[in-house]
Amino acid sequence: MPKDKKTILTGDRPTGNLHLGHYVGSLANRVKLQQEYESYIIIADVQALTTHWEKDENLSRDVYQIVSDYLAVGIDPEISTIFVQSMIPEIHELTMYYSLFTTVNVLRHNPTIKTEAAQHGMNDMTYGFLGYPVSQAADITIFKADLVPVGEDQIPHIELARKIVRRFNDLYQPVLVEPQVLLGDVPRLVGMDGKEKMSKSLNNAIFLADDAQQVKEKVGNAVTDPARIRKSDPGHPEICTVYAYHQVFNLNELEEIEQACRQGKIGCVECKKRMAGKINELLDPMRERRQKYLDKPELLRDILMEGTKKAHRAAKETMLEVRTAMKINYF
Ligand code: ATP
Ligand code: MG
Repeated sequence: MPKDKKTILTGDRPTGNLHLGHYVGSLANRVKLQQEYESYIIIADVQALTTHWEKDENLSRDVYQIVSDYLAVGIDPEISTIFVQSMIPEIHELTMYYSLFTTVNVLRHNPTIKTEAAQHGMNDMTYGFLGYPVSQAADITIFKADLVPVGEDQIPHIELARKIVRRFNDLYQPVLVEPQVLLGDVPRLVGMDGKEKMSKSLNNAIFLADDAQQVKEKVGNAVTDPARIRKSDPGHPEICTVYAYHQVFNLNELEEIEQACRQGKIGCVECKKRMAGKINELLDPMRERRQKYLDKPELLRDILMEGTKKAHRAAKETMLEVRTAMKINYF
């Protein structure tokens, strides 16, 4: 049956609060497109366990934190389906079928896997970690997603999902849809450390749930041009983390700040103050929306349960087609 709307799938690992990198890399697109597309948003708890299996005590808290982050940025639970990965057994079933024809070498050469393995200090990868892109391909394709709005680190994974779809459709029957990646306006926001991408796990993030004071402090501690000691020293915006943030969050004042920095007319303290102000302007309406849900955990639970039920129904339908295509429907 042809769909009347195209489908989006995205999501996040419940490994901590969502941050500005998520917002500019993926969440902003999700909010923008949710009217136009059938939207599924996965809270990838099994994927979180691939690196956090020994730290499961925070999982439930982080799942609910992410739901409140979603509502704060403007995801509308009436139109978007928010669900939990581990509660959809069909995803894990489909992962197994995909793993039958996905080689270990393809996974080993995935650049995001390599970077993340190094970040997590893994010298030997578990089967589950090495294989998480296969599981992610199942997340996406079980909903027949056309579009996946994500950050740059996800490109190799979407490429793999596309390959898996082509292989499956070719081997069995053409039941799966090849997904396209949709990068955010800023596909890789650098962290406050100025080195790595902003990440929940790297202690370099400004969280969407941070209050105004926390934002000021974090921006205040950001790494700037090390050559600038006094305000009058000429600055080098191209190597400054705070300037990189002005390029994203403060386009109006960008030129003025660049000139003033190069000429030693604006100090880092003032420059950071303006940056923090801009970020707080962006976060203020989110803070307001979040307030509505703060004392209502039952509301978050209902949203998650309803979403998971709906996602489960859709996943079952695809699996019926998959099993038929693979001729493993015996009764
Ligand atoms: P973790 O450290 O637990 O992996 P994370 O911060 O990398 O957390 P994920 O849950 O892995 O976040 O990523 C969720 C989505 O957000 C993905 O689409 C990813 O590409 C995007 N994303 C994450 N960090 C950034 C960033 N710094 N800039 C742009 N997009 C990002
Ligand atoms: Mg990540």
